[in-house]
Amino acid sequence: MTRLSKLGFVWLVGAGPGDPELLTLKARRLIETADALVHDALSPVEVLAWARPGAELLDVGKRCGRACRPQSEINALLVRLARAGRRVVRLKGGDPLVFGRGGEELAALAAAGVPCEVVPGVTAAVAAAAAAQVPLTERGLSQAVLLATGHEAPDLPGRVTRWADYAKLDATLCIYMGRRRAAKISAELQAGGLPADTPVLLVAAAATAEQQILPATLGTMAAVAEAAAPSAPLLIIVGEVARSPGEAGPRPAGKPVARAAALALSPA
Ligand code: SAH
Repeated sequence: MTRLSKLGFVWLVGAGPGDPELLTLKARRLIETADALVHDALSPVEVLAWARPGAELLDVGKRCGRACRPQSEINALLVRLARAGRRVVRLKGGDPLVFGRGGEELAALAAAGVPCEVVPGVTAAVAAAAAAQVPLTERGLSQAVLLATGHEAPDLPGRVTRWADYAKLDATLCIYMGRRRAAKISAELQAGGLPADTPVLLVAAAATAEQQILPATLGTMAAVAEAAAPSAPLLIIVGEVARSPGEAGPRPAGKPVARAAALALSPA
């Protein structure tokens, strides 16, 4: 009996922030032709509907509060599917290699000899800036951007985030997963030298119908974070770029910027 030894392929595909129109053409083509789609809680549902009939849809969502599938199991699942000859799309919210543990998946695939490719996606910081219409860099205001996580991994106790050092970078800070530690982050950034009136924008569920843009300052950002829809993913932008163009001082906390109203997703 001939044994089929055809090895499959895994694509780590960025699903972007939520709007299905923000996926790349390549991502769409791969989703439409994949044998199996392994997706997260943050993958837009509309996108899953692009899968061909008969494709296997596997939800390995790992959002806090829901059942968590250990990363090692996800890695093993990808390897198993590829070894069964499947063309696998591993769909990840935003960009697969920004706070998505995509690196660990790549390492597991490489160790197992599974061929793979990464298809980039629009990461939340970029989507949030676009939603709020603020530049992440601007001549004379900010020459650098830092993508930082507000979540400290409990299994990596030595790896504390050095907010007081980040405060000295003179860069725009884009904080992912920062809602629960917003008060601590704000206090540490201030301890590092950033003034309490440093402009901040909180963008919840960027590029979705639930999008909220909440202006704040470093001093008020924790309280304003509380006002954001609790289940929406939240991106916090800290720095001078977060100030409205032409605005002389910091905006009052918690009042949506005027332009936000006009920024609801355009109707399909
Ligand atoms: N790989 C993803 C990030 C995953 S970490 C990316 O590149 O965007 C999950 C965090 O990303 C969330 O807690 C939130 O901070 C941020 N995030 C993801 N989607 C978002 C969205 N639509 N709006 C605002 N923040 C978002």
